[in-house]
Formats: sequence, C-alpha cells, structure tokens
Amino acid sequence: MRQSELFTKTRRTAPKDEVSKNGRLLIQAGYINKEMAGVYDYLPLGLRVLKKIENIIREEMNKLGGQEIFMTTLQDPTLWKKSGRWDDKVVTDWFKTRNDEFGLSNTHEEPLTNLLKNHILSYKDLPVYVYQFQTKLRYELRAKSGLMRGREFIMKDLYSFSRTPEELDRFHDKCRKAYLNVFKRAGIGNKTYLTYASGGSFTKYSYEFQTLSEAGEDIIYLDKTKKIAINKEVYDEESVQTLKLNREKLIRERSIEVGNIFKLGTRFSDALGLKYVDKSGIERPVIMGSYGIGLGRLMGAIVEVLSDDKGIIWPVSVAPFKVHLVELKKGLARGLYEKLTKAGVETLYDDRDLTPGEKFNDADLIGIPWRLVVSEKTKNKVEVKRRNAKKVELISHDELIQQFS
Ligand code: ATP
Ligand code: MG
Repeated sequence: MRQSELFTKTRRTAPKDEVSKNGRLLIQAGYINKEMAGVYDYLPLGLRVLKKIENIIREEMNKLGGQEIFMTTLQDPTLWKKSGRWDDKVVTDWFKTRNDEFGLSNTHEEPLTNLLKNHILSYKDLPVYVYQFQTKLRYELRAKSGLMRGREFIMKDLYSFSRTPEELDRFHDKCRKAYLNVFKRAGIGNKTYLTYASGGSFTKYSYEFQTLSEAGEDIIYLDKTKKIAINKEVYDEESVQTLKLNREKLIRERSIEVGNIFKLGTRFSDALGLKYVDKSGIERPVIMGSYGIGLGRLMGAIVEVLSDDKGIIWPVSVAPFKVHLVELKKGLARGLYEKLTKAGVETLYDDRDLTPGEKFNDADLIGIPWRLVVSEKTKNKVEVKRRNAKKVELISHDELIQQFS
C-alpha cells in the first residue's frame, strides 16, 4: 500500500487523554481512534493487525476441532433469568437497553447453551466445540488500559460441550497447549505463563495466561523454571503445595491476563436444560467449558511488551505489513515496490513528500518489522534494517526479493 493514500496521519505527540502506553502509541501511529474511555475504532493499520491476530487464533481453534459461528449482540433476558445472571448484582457490568428489554452481549454462555438444545440430543452428537469472534459490551469501571480494557471489545470465545468430565479434561488440556501456541505465535510467548487462578463454580482453579508487564492489572507468583504461576487471588499454602512449587523460588510479578480457560461443568446446561441421552438411554446434562481471548487485550499487550521510546516493534506474525519501504527521493522506490508487491511481500510504501527525518520517525513509530530505504546514496541497492536493531545491511533487489518472499 502507498502511504500517500493511507488516510490516517501519525501524530507528533501522544494524545493527552490516554494514559496507557498501548493506547498512546496506537493512537499516535494511527492504528486506532478513541471514541470514549474504553471505546476504540480500528483504522486501516489497526484492522490489519486485528485480522492477523484473529487468524492466528482461528487456525489454532480449528486445529482443535472448533466450529466457527457468529452470534448476536442483542440478547434475550429470558435466558439470563434462567441462569440467575440477569440480576445486576450478579453480573455488575451489564449494558441493557431501555426498560431492560434486551441485554447487550456481556458474554454468550446462556444463548449458546440454549441454541444447542436444537442440535444436541444423544451421545452421538457430542463432543462439540463452538467458537466465535464477537463483540462484548461491559461497563468496565476502570477503562484506563487502552485496548486492554475495553467497554466494547472483541473476544474469541470458545465453548466446549462434552459427555463426561474426562472428555472435558482432555479438551481442556489440548486447549491449554493451543493457547500457549497462540501467544507464542503472537510474539509474546517468552513472557506469557500458565497461571492458576480462581475457578468459579465447578473447579477450585482455572487457568489464566498471564503476560509479564508493568502495565498489567494482575499480580502473580511465578516459578520461572517450571513456567507456572499462581494468581495472587488464590495464592496460599494450599495452592503452592498442590502445584508442588517452592515458595522461595516464586517471584512476585505484575502481569496482563491475555486469556483464560474455565471448566464450567453443568452450571449452564442445568440452568437452561441442555441434556443428552447416553448409551444406556439415560438423560444427562452436558458438561461445559469456556475459553476466552480478548483480541484487543492481546494487541494491547503486544504493544506494551514490544515497544521502545520511539514506537511499536511488531513481531512479523501480526505486523500490519512485513516491510516498510521508504524512499528518500520521489519515485525512486516505485520499481522496487512493484517487485515486492508482485512477489507477495506485504509492503507499506512511503512515497510521501516528507523529510527523511520525518519518514524515519514515522517508520519507528508505526513499527513495521523491516525498514527498507532507497535513496540516491544506495544506488541500485536497498538499505535493510530490522526495527529493533541498529545494524544496517546493503543488499541488491534480487537478494531482497529472495529473502522476503
Ligand atoms: P478481567 O478479570 O481482566 O476483567 P475477565 O475475567 O472478565 O477478565 P473473561 O470474561 O473470562 O475475562 O474474558 C476472557 C478474556 O477476554 C480475558 O482473558 C481477556 O483476554 C479478555 N477481556 C476480558 N475483559 C476485557 C475487556 N474489558 N477488554 C478487552 N479484553 C477483555
Ligand atoms: Mg472482567
């Protein structure tokens, strides 16, 4: 894409009404726009990142046998009354429409459990794994963390429907690995740890995936060698012993919850009447699990972890473009842009009429992994530099195409 045609502009300074680093950088570089606290639009660059994150997650969920659907944002209160979660004292961050006529998707356990009653009858219909990328609306009190705590945000939520606790356990295990894969592929694997947290209704513990960062809202106690952590909320002698950890080896860290997985048991299938008939003809409640990742939360976390005082440093896997082609004289890099495009290399081509300094600052701020500079000085070669490195390499067009396609 030609940068001269990109309608978004970078800003010289960070927005004053945004305190989080991810929010400031993403707004300054033109990835997102802030409507209100916790409410953000995705602009062309931001949407490209979001879609890449979405695709990584989709691939991992499909490998698990997940089937993608897309549910509604408007929800029927009747279903929520059955589970007892329509009550504002039970779910405190609801958005509801006038006269409580509809709920605005806080989460989707109730409507999905109800939906599956039309499709699950016998043990032959199970297990089933269903997921979506869908908007959640929550009245978050402290919406000060940029994309990491939206009042409107996109979540990948997967729900598992199994026959037995063992079948749930097996899927839960596989999902745990898939989640670690997602965070690894998204570039924050070396900072993200499986964390034991409070379990809710069915089990003592649930799993969270926590990324070490000063911007996080959670505190965990981490064993770096075993790569296991305990969330402060359940950190006690019992949890330490259950996990066979050594209190002395645990370090206290601040972290961001980028995902979580829960065993729900029969909490929702009982409430909404989702049952199946087993092999011997007996009717049983379906056993459920839920598995969430906030896409904005993950995108924000990547920026928190991978950035410096000049801007963002995207990992290639989620970067809006793979290379940022910067020409220092009008039209000099047009030929190379065409070659790169033909070779299928995602390229942002800075063909704007700006000074080299302005272009370099923008390139650092936007944070595309590779910067390619073409100037009169580089002749028929290209200057290649990794966003987070100092080293500059001068290579030929052919070598470049070979290396990047
Ligand atoms: P938190 O404790 O951070 O509020 P939660 O327990 O409410 O999270 P879930 O409802 O289980 O989270 O949502 C699953 C995932 O969705 C979380 O792990 C997180 O990645 C993401 N998420 C939750 N709330 C938000 C939000 N307000 N903005 C962006 N992502 C969110
Ligand atoms: Mg919450």
